[in-house]
Amino acid sequence: MIKELITDEELLSQPCEPATAEDADVAQDLLDTIESIEDCACIAANQIGVPKAVIVYRNEKDRVHVMFNPSMKRALRPYRTEEGCLTREGATKVTRYDQATFMYQELVDGVLIPRKKECRGWTAQILQHMIDHCKGKLI
Ligand SMILES: [Zn+2]
Repeated sequence: MIKELITDEELLSQPCEPATAEDADVAQDLLDTIESIEDCACIAANQIGVPKAVIVYRNEKDRVHVMFNPSMKRALRPYRTEEGCLTREGATKVTRYDQATFMYQELVDGVLIPRKKECRGWTAQILQHMIDHCKGKLI
C-alpha cells in the first residue's frame, strides 16, 4: 500500500527496532511507496511511520531492492559531501565512504536470509543515508 511520508523530526529521530520476517508487509508498503514517487532513490520504514529497520532503494540500473536490518562494514575512501533528504528540507554536510560492504537480510519464502553486498559510489552513498535513518539520524 502506498503510504504517506512522515516529516516529524521527533519520530524520525528515534532509532528503529530490528525488523523480523513479520515485517513483510512493511517491505511491500515501501516498494509500493517508492514506485509512487518520481525520482525517489530510497525510503526507510520510519519515513512511512514504521520504526523498523527495513529500507528500500533504487540502484544505478533502476532496480528496486529491499534490505532488512542493513549495516555497513569495511568502509573505504571517506569523502565529504552534501546530502538532501526526502523527508527533510535543505542539505546537510556528511562524511560518506565511496566503497563499503553492507550486511543485511533478505526475506525469502517467509525467512530472513543473511546477505552481503559490496557497493560503490551512488549505491554506497544512498545505503549509508538509509542506515542513518534506521539509527534515527537525520541528514
Ligand atoms: Zn533521508
